[in-house]
Amino acid sequence: MASWHDYPATAQLNPNVIRLKEPCLVLLIGLSGAGKSTFAARHFRPTEIVSSDTCRALVRDDEADQRATADAFEVVHLLAKLRLKARRTTIIDATNLKRADRAHIVKLAHDTGVGAAAIVLDVPRTLCHARNQRRPGRDFGPEVLELQEARLQSDLRSLTEEGLAPIVVLDSVAAIDAVVFERR
Ligand code: GDP
Ligand code: MG
Repeated sequence: MASWHDYPATAQLNPNVIRLKEPCLVLLIGLSGAGKSTFAARHFRPTEIVSSDTCRALVRDDEADQRATADAFEVVHLLAKLRLKARRTTIIDATNLKRADRAHIVKLAHDTGVGAAAIVLDVPRTLCHARNQRRPGRDFGPEVLELQEARLQSDLRSLTEEGLAPIVVLDSVAAIDAVVFERR
């Protein structure tokens, strides 16, 4: 988990209402176990969510099979591109922790004249770890989450330079639970 001074100056910290001007692309950003898929399912229709885990399952029958990652992201990118072309709001449910990965997807949105928002689920790594230990296929060692957290901390502040707006940071389970969306 980052501390407040790691957040971008323009980030909305723990808003109760997230306003989305549609159509839009929404990048969920967070460690494995942060609650991205749960959050997406709570707020969006299943067809609006493009999930890297679901795409792993589509190509390999196993959403935790990391060997499927490259193929899965081809599917993620294709779905995102086609949905954005059709001007459908699209939620990217993946860790989105690598700048190059974000850039690729943000470009898909901007190429079609659609805005890209970021929602960072910044909950403690220890909580993510505990949750992952209880999930099949996610019982990886702590070094995986340490690397993910390092990526998040190093990139958070410069998210504003990546063409993302709004950037929302939710830094607790309570803040994540409290959010409602206003879609216009
Ligand atoms: P992701 O890896 O970021 O997509 O995380 P998931 O949404 O799959 O959540 C990981 C685990 O944490 C799952 O077992 C969820 O049921 C659990 N989880 C996610 N969000 C919450 C929450 O707000 N409260 C509680 N109690 N559990 C949660
Ligand atoms: Mg998930």
